[in-house]
Amino acid sequence: MNINPIQSWSKLSNKPLLIAGPCSAETEEQLYETTLAIFRQGITVIRAGIWKPRTRPNNFEGIGVEGLKWIQNVKKLLPVSFAVEVATPQHVEQALLHDIDILWIGARSTVNPFTVQEIADALRGTDKPVLIKNPINPELDLWLGAIERIHNAGINNIGAIHRGFSSLQKSKYRNLPNWQIPIELKRIMPEIPLICDPSHIAGDRNMIFDLAQRALDLNYDGLMIETHRDPENAWSDAKQQVSPDLLRDILKNLQVRISQVQDAEFNHQMDEFRDQIDQADRDIIEAIAHRMSLVSKIGEHKKQNNVTVLQIDRWKEIFKTRKEWGQAMLLDQDFVAELYKLIHAASIKQQTAILNDLKAKA
Ligand code: PEP
Ligand code: MN
Repeated sequence: MNINPIQSWSKLSNKPLLIAGPCSAETEEQLYETTLAIFRQGITVIRAGIWKPRTRPNNFEGIGVEGLKWIQNVKKLLPVSFAVEVATPQHVEQALLHDIDILWIGARSTVNPFTVQEIADALRGTDKPVLIKNPINPELDLWLGAIERIHNAGINNIGAIHRGFSSLQKSKYRNLPNWQIPIELKRIMPEIPLICDPSHIAGDRNMIFDLAQRALDLNYDGLMIETHRDPENAWSDAKQQVSPDLLRDILKNLQVRISQVQDAEFNHQMDEFRDQIDQADRDIIEAIAHRMSLVSKIGEHKKQNNVTVLQIDRWKEIFKTRKEWGQAMLLDQDFVAELYKLIHAASIKQQTAILNDLKAKA
């Protein structure tokens, strides 16, 4: 995939790319004042929702095309670029007509390949930077597919925005971060710039700093933070938007880390640790292979005695004791629980296969 680095289109020399601005453009004055306060902090990429995808009708659904004119007016007064969400070919057309600098595809659009394809077709022949939010549901393929559709339309200035995933699970987040999904995206498409939107993950301005720091610790390329001159009275997402003052505090305290250093001593030490980790992983794989050979034996034994594969009391005991053993070694209990769910599922699968062989022969 030929994807340009973020610096080539964001005009920034180094990471992270900071994008701040209101959830929605509400009035020309609100847009200008918010932009000015953000610009004074050295941030030059402003977000503003013009068409708002609202879950229920009769909420503020965005100001529409009029807001694009406000953006043009603000750009005459301040040297900033603007990013807006597009969800239909008409939005794309209007955004291009009004010289919007960056477009993004929202989470509710990424879920729908028809919508993404229509947007991609409308973008063909332009070189607008396009940021693609993760789909609402935790499905990496939809995210990859949306990126591919935009890329296939000839767009090389692409970034991915991690905004969290909806879930039935009760949690402190508005949208669960599921960090392993964007990490997997990076494994499959290492060239794609990754931007974190802590605002929509959190749903609460008090959690934004921690999420943003976590993203920088994971070597994200940028942050998009919803910022409003008067967050409490915002027309959308009031709880999660930060004031320009809070934005300043957050940015001041964030630690930007480096992904690599040239220092020979540091790299030598890294190699040594990695060798040891490689050996530890070999030991883990060997131990699992040994466990699976025992599982085969117990499977045969059950088969010969016509006994069910699943022994719920034994599974309950394994689940309890392994967490205790892990805890004694200071391992995270949830981690050990998830690990044993996987190991047990593999064990059940193997024993079921053994049992079915018998049935096939009988
Ligand atoms: C937004 O950025 O305001 C928005 C609607 O985001 P999402 O698509 O992530 O819900
Ligand atoms: Mn929002």
